[in-house]
Amino acid sequence: MRLTGMPSHHTRAISLRRTKLGETDLIVTFLAEDGSQVRAVAKGARKPGSRFCGRVEPYTVVDMLLHTGRTLETVSDAQIVSSHCALREDYDRSQAASVVADFLDKVSVECQPEERLFDLTCATLDAMDVARGDALLALVVAFLLKGMAMHGYRPQFGACASCGGIAGAGAFSLELGGPLCEACRTPGSDVAYATDEALAALRQLMAARMSDVGGLGISRPVLGDSLGLVRSFVVYHVPARLKALAMYASEFGTGG
Ligand SMILES: [Zn+2]
Repeated sequence: MRLTGMPSHHTRAISLRRTKLGETDLIVTFLAEDGSQVRAVAKGARKPGSRFCGRVEPYTVVDMLLHTGRTLETVSDAQIVSSHCALREDYDRSQAASVVADFLDKVSVECQPEERLFDLTCATLDAMDVARGDALLALVVAFLLKGMAMHGYRPQFGACASCGGIAGAGAFSLELGGPLCEACRTPGSDVAYATDEALAALRQLMAARMSDVGGLGISRPVLGDSLGLVRSFVVYHVPARLKALAMYASEFGTGG
């Protein structure tokens, strides 16, 4: 069915966030398959027995038909591709997935494609569906590293980020996104503390496929340090407040 006068298009998308609109509608924020953000109204989605029931829940991947209105787009059909229901039913998984959704909500932009972001997100959520314990933490850290790289801030964990010389443990430049050698450490520059183990873990997580991240076997204390460092890096470059990440980090003692 096509409504005359209203341009429509199909897209595959991941639901990130829902906000109430009026008595029974929802505004749903999606990450579209081209990596841009789409906000669309799901009319009547809060009515019992709505055709959208269970289809626009956070982390659900849907094939949608959208109609372009004067201000917002309207969802006229949504078919589930992947429901990711395990991410809503289990506390640890939902905490981890909420970091992913909140990050994407804040860094993705309408009409600004970044095609690798959608595949990364699908791979992350698929892996989180079946991960448990420390593997979830490893997936969060790996997602943030790769997500930041796609957002234009690619961290590296090898040579000194300033001069290219040999960098040791200690200072990680938040501005440059890499470790610093002794000579390049200037007082007052924005650095985070990084152990050798954390730098090695971050290098591994950055290089691994999402489906392999859970099997790397990085210990929980090292993952906690890695999360603290990647969080500082994200906070330094992303101006929006990432509430879910702050909450997640506080559970691992790396808040603040
Ligand atoms: Zn240097």
